[in-house]
Amino acid sequence: NAYPTHDPEWVRDMHADHYLQSWSKQGSRPRVITGAQGSWFWDSDGKRYLDFQSQLVNANLGHQHPKIIQAIKDQADKLCYISPAMGSDVRSELAAIMNEITPDNITSTFFTTGGSAANETAIRVARHYTGRTKIIARYRSYHGATGGALSLTGDPRHHLTRADMPGIVRMLDPYVYRLPTGHTDPAKCPVAQGGPHLEELLMYENPNTVAAVILEPIVGTNGIIVPPEGYLQSIKATCEKYGILLIADEVMAGFGRTGKWFAVDHWGVQPDIITSAKGINSGYVPLGTMSVSTEIHDWLRDTPLPGGLTYAGHPLACASGVAAIRAMQEEDTLAHATAMGETLRTELHRLAEKHPCIGDIRGKGMFNGIELVKNRDTREPLVPFAAKGDAAKPMNDMMGYAMNNGLYLSFFSNVIRLTPPLNISQEDLMTGIEILDRTLEIADKDCN
Ligand code: PLP
Repeated sequence: NAYPTHDPEWVRDMHADHYLQSWSKQGSRPRVITGAQGSWFWDSDGKRYLDFQSQLVNANLGHQHPKIIQAIKDQADKLCYISPAMGSDVRSELAAIMNEITPDNITSTFFTTGGSAANETAIRVARHYTGRTKIIARYRSYHGATGGALSLTGDPRHHLTRADMPGIVRMLDPYVYRLPTGHTDPAKCPVAQGGPHLEELLMYENPNTVAAVILEPIVGTNGIIVPPEGYLQSIKATCEKYGILLIADEVMAGFGRTGKWFAVDHWGVQPDIITSAKGINSGYVPLGTMSVSTEIHDWLRDTPLPGGLTYAGHPLACASGVAAIRAMQEEDTLAHATAMGETLRTELHRLAEKHPCIGDIRGKGMFNGIELVKNRDTREPLVPFAAKGDAAKPMNDMMGYAMNNGLYLSFFSNVIRLTPPLNISQEDLMTGIEILDRTLEIADKDCN
């Protein structure tokens, strides 16, 4: 009674009728993906797509990297599972590597099944460690889908919690392209400066009640927002002044995505806690991390870690993480991502000369976005904030056109995110840019 899994129509039927898809109305009948290699994947019709998104910005080393696959196979042969309190060679090896590549003050790591669980654990640790309850998070953010992480999240999905976890305070974002009303110069804007805006919030909130500030050092899902120079240092200094922990959510930005191991490395800032997932092992097996400073680790020697998971430190996941990070070191992936990112942004500036819809180009390494506008002078967004359905038509039309032409892209509001695998070849990069060039003509039609 085997199911006809080889039949794409059957796969689509089951997808529509028996599978529940994330964040979506149900019943969609998607393309059926049957394979992938490097920066490409293909469907049951044999049509190939260039992955300019690295799936959910996790396939940092592209698809089917042989070293990661081999490590998973070897580990499966050796030991598939052992409980989190037992010693395991790959678990210890990945913990040691994390100590090696995270900022100097960060020395120990709790492994999770993904980014949400990492952030969930981080806020619990911060609350226990400080004895305080409030967490300051930003509006243009995504921190995960579990109760606490979705409450931290500022993007419209947090409305789905119906009632956020108590104790969340919202901070504005260092969104230089759209500074708060009345400001034109980031150097004089308290929000873009970071510390002054945080100070003002703390005046109302009482710093002694605030456990942590959590932020994506470079915002991912919500539009690739790179903070101005000095922002993160200023936030960190203000946190230190009041004994508030800084949690850097590097779930999307970490592991070479921005050309450095972690986005905070661009500014030499040392957060108290770093969370990550996604690119750590290119997403081949679920894995996330919550890494803490020596001070917090020392405190945890006398106080139990307030969190745990059946799959914390899963050997298959740890083995894949070790292999992926070692492959990045051996293949000099960070340098390649930095170089390809520069090429990509140079090409985007070239496209901006002919496409009036391009309002802003921003990013670091292979973490890039283009913000689309109806008019460059007024900066009126091509579609409204968090637009969906008909309101998002030009964006959806562009995604559809790109996909039909073999380029996989994604967007949030009026921003197209460009996050190819870090090891994409220059030739593939140029292929993607050529399709993007044609795709942007759709948005140009709405410009005035
Ligand atoms: N934090 C950030 C910055 C993310 O981008 C994501 C996922 O996109 C998460 C947390 C949640 O991670 P996960 O989906 O692995 O739970």
